[in-house]
Amino acid sequence: MNSKLIVLNWKTNPISGVEATKLGVKIKDLIKNKKNVEVVMCPPAPFIPLVMPKRKNKGLAVGAQDAFFVGSGSYTGRASSEMFKSLGCEYVIVGHSEKRQDGDTDEVVAKKVESVIRSNMKAIICVGEEIRDKEGKYLNLIRHQVISAISLVKKSYLKDVIIAYEPLWAIGKDAYKADDPESFFHNAVFIKKAFATVSGSEMAVKLPVLYGGSVTADNALKFLVSGRADGLLIGRVSLLPEQVKDIIYMAEQLGNNK
Ligand code: PEP
Repeated sequence: MNSKLIVLNWKTNPISGVEATKLGVKIKDLIKNKKNVEVVMCPPAPFIPLVMPKRKNKGLAVGAQDAFFVGSGSYTGRASSEMFKSLGCEYVIVGHSEKRQDGDTDEVVAKKVESVIRSNMKAIICVGEEIRDKEGKYLNLIRHQVISAISLVKKSYLKDVIIAYEPLWAIGKDAYKADDPESFFHNAVFIKKAFATVSGSEMAVKLPVLYGGSVTADNALKFLVSGRADGLLIGRVSLLPEQVKDIIYMAEQLGNNK
């Protein structure tokens, strides 16, 4: 992947369609004239049509925060991959820790990933440990999450997979700190190795691995440069256009300096 991928996960925010539209307009303005960065806005499902650009906009895509794996039927409250595709979405976040805590098992995550890719979108699969133990046992969990999430995807479609490494202790308002870039880098290499056991090494080298967890305008550059992250998955700060602006600017400059 050449350009950095900046994924904005708005979660259950903002509270109204009017505010979501305004935030969407601000983000769209920020990516004007940017060539080396791809920004993916992931608003709550009802706001997706409100922020969807009228024409395909280079550097900007819209994504969903989750998608159900059956296209249509008697599943009250669910919205499927096919539905998001029909709205113009290009990405779907799958297996976010908040969805796993809500009951998404590894099997459900695998079915969702398969449905996203079958619907011609890219799956951003979140993996990450709850506790970082010194012995490195957490790596077994990460390996398992990666391998099981892609288990239903045909090998030739694994190019549509992106992994977001998000240690649970680093994400959300209860996080006590972000990971550090060096440790992210080692974990990203580990993720590529796990992926390679299914995809083969050629594809694993190209696998984009993003960092997520308490990213701000102050630490983003460290993850992109020292951590060599292919991009960032941003939660709380994705609602703050001033910080998003700085992060997009940094990512764009890195592309210019290649
Ligand atoms: C997230 O929940 O995916 C996330 C990265 O959140 P935050 O940036 O707020 O830690």
